[in-house]
Amino acid sequence: MAERVDNGTRSEPASQADTREATAARLRYLMETEGNAIYPMASGSNVRRAQTYAETDDIEQLRAEARAIKEDAIDRLPELLETVREAVEKNGGTVYVADDAADANAYVAAVVEEAAGGSNERATAASHPSGDDPTVVKSKSMTTEEIDLNDTLEARGADVYETDLGEWVIQLADDSPSHIVGPAMHLSREEIAALLEAEFDLAEPLETAAELTRFARDYLGEKIREADVGITGANFVVAETGTITLVTNEGNARKCAVTPDTHVAVAGVEKLIPRLRDLEPFVDIIAKSATGQSISQYVTMLSPPTDSPTLDFADDTPLAGETDAADPTADTGDATDETDPSGDREFHLVLLDNGRMDMRADDQLRETLYCIRCGACSNSCANFQSVGGHGFGGETYSGGIATGWEAGLADHDAAEFNDLCTGCTRCVDACPVQIDIPWINTVVRDRLNRGEEPAHLDSLVEGLTPDEEPSGLDPGKRFFGNIGTAARLASATAPVSNWIADAEPIRALLERTLGIDRRRNLPTFRRETLVDWFESRGGTEASRYRAERARKRFDEVPDSLEREAVLYADVYTNHVDVDRGKAAVRTLEALGVPVQVPNLPESGRAPLSQGMIATADRQASRLYAAVAEDLDAGRDLVVIEPSDLAAFQREYERLLPERSFETLSENSYDLCAYVFGLLEHGADPSVLRNGSGEEPITYHSHCQQRTLGLEAQTVALLERCGYAPRTTEAECCGMAGSFGYKREYYEVSVDVGQRLTSEIDADDPVVATGTSCGDQLESLLERPVPHPLEVLAPR
Ligand code: SF4
Repeated sequence: MAERVDNGTRSEPASQADTREATAARLRYLMETEGNAIYPMASGSNVRRAQTYAETDDIEQLRAEARAIKEDAIDRLPELLETVREAVEKNGGTVYVADDAADANAYVAAVVEEAAGGSNERATAASHPSGDDPTVVKSKSMTTEEIDLNDTLEARGADVYETDLGEWVIQLADDSPSHIVGPAMHLSREEIAALLEAEFDLAEPLETAAELTRFARDYLGEKIREADVGITGANFVVAETGTITLVTNEGNARKCAVTPDTHVAVAGVEKLIPRLRDLEPFVDIIAKSATGQSISQYVTMLSPPTDSPTLDFADDTPLAGETDAADPTADTGDATDETDPSGDREFHLVLLDNGRMDMRADDQLRETLYCIRCGACSNSCANFQSVGGHGFGGETYSGGIATGWEAGLADHDAAEFNDLCTGCTRCVDACPVQIDIPWINTVVRDRLNRGEEPAHLDSLVEGLTPDEEPSGLDPGKRFFGNIGTAARLASATAPVSNWIADAEPIRALLERTLGIDRRRNLPTFRRETLVDWFESRGGTEASRYRAERARKRFDEVPDSLEREAVLYADVYTNHVDVDRGKAAVRTLEALGVPVQVPNLPESGRAPLSQGMIATADRQASRLYAAVAEDLDAGRDLVVIEPSDLAAFQREYERLLPERSFETLSENSYDLCAYVFGLLEHGADPSVLRNGSGEEPITYHSHCQQRTLGLEAQTVALLERCGYAPRTTEAECCGMAGSFGYKREYYEVSVDVGQRLTSEIDADDPVVATGTSCGDQLESLLERPVPHPLEVLAPR
């Protein structure tokens, strides 16, 4: 079993190179020890989740509805706290709003001691005739993990038993959860069997999952029957009725809630929803998003204290109202002391703040409170699938959204693992409440950048970099965030710059100072940029002439083909992968569309990925100013690099004024989707290099292109041009811009990339739309991986 991994990179005064090395070693260790168990579980849940979403007709409506209810609930949180207090007290229970972990722990500990120590005579007499320690059974609750409730109760003499199978295993192993929903996901069945064998005196070894489960059920069933107090979490708390909803696949939560006389439910204040009818979309969607089930095995709604009679398992007297079916004359009306519902049951609802009210007031972290803890963001994350929650997580929470939780509940330093989020956005489609998880990671990264202490070379670096960032920023982040400046310099001095950068001493220096892993191939910068090439062949006028000549091939040019395109020469296309830019220009002209390739400002994508929001903000404004006139004139902004298009259509909403964002978003197009659109509107496909009709080709779509729903258009384009494309399933290539270059993440990047390449047939040609995807695939497959248009464009 792996030890808890400290993701922090700041605990000791070490050089940045040492810190990167240490992070790489920790992640490597996790991939070796836990990755093999994590990957099949997380990716399996992800595949089932995607299938269930696809089979649910109204899935988007459900997600929107759930989101709207959460937005409203968090808006009205102070009011809902009052409402739930009234409802629970009317039901006969107690509500306690705890400020922090210590407050919550002290309250629950007092309830446990009181329940076992005399005020509840039944518990004392029946279960603790000899004054034994109080016994507590618990169902799975991340909130009690957050406050370390078990430690407090045990320190005060209680015996605490987790009854969720995974949590119980973790408790026996003295380990920590590695996943919000599947806490023992990092352990194999064999490891769990060995753990139980070592822990219990077993007559026979437990081998199958059924044997393990049966043993756990028998053992924990006994503990539940003996317990003084049952502690549960709550998936949702309905304010108007005081109803708590427990969603499980094991049925243990409801046993914990109703078998002991005293029930304590511990939940974050964000679990409140206003009305009973608001539960419907959540009950529907939580199982779908968490495990891909259409509904969970057990959905329990309780408005405690329940009316059900208290239970004394030592007493054989039949329960009140429970008659022998064979004896219709049996007395049914006389409740015994053991079954009298009045007064014997206690219920305490502990609602935890612990920083949540501050998160509510924080415009950027507030969205985290909409989270229903389904774990879909973890399952859909390629990096999580490699390292699990002990690598991609903090003290309590794991996966992409853990950044928001850990930063909000502890402090921002607790969320340093957020650099494992590459911003691929695959979790955005998975999240049932439509949380923009990558943005939360970007914001926290930005805040962490701003908290760094200035280093002695900062003033020099700042003078060389045209960014808006503060002193103290990691030099590697600063380099990648200013990649446009480096690319201009490298192109201007190519090929010498390429030779120098590739020399071994320079690679060693780059690794030590900027954290660029020396095993990663560096891009080869081109002396002639795409913009230079375009101008050298006559620029816009010549393009107009070529497009005009191509249009003469059409008998009649449909109005919908009367387009003009501004091709966005992103940093990589302009300086490195110039060929895909040339292919784009030739294709558009051949289909009758005149093209401009101006020297436009950077998109801001590079600084965004490093958490440099101020720099990205400035670049977004500059870019919009540079294209506004063309957009107003009705020209289309055609974008080759999917991550830039994603910036224009997603992140710019947060960076530009509303109208500017709408104009840019509505008039920017993915290159392949644009070309397919031209063919759909009557352009002549015969001018392209078509396949024979059944020609196999493997197509890897960029992750952000998939989130934008644009994979299908490239597939359709390839089919239209005579290919039989097969798409890859892996959520990400693992390269993700600068991520795969970084010393600390290189091996994670390769691990993710190898899962992708394992899907690809050795003989099939491969195309990829993203530059990083192409680089990763070329390096792992050791063969060219062009952009689809480099295959289709006329020569
Ligand atoms: S952020 Fe969304 S996907 Fe992730 S755990 Fe929360 S609700 Fe689930």
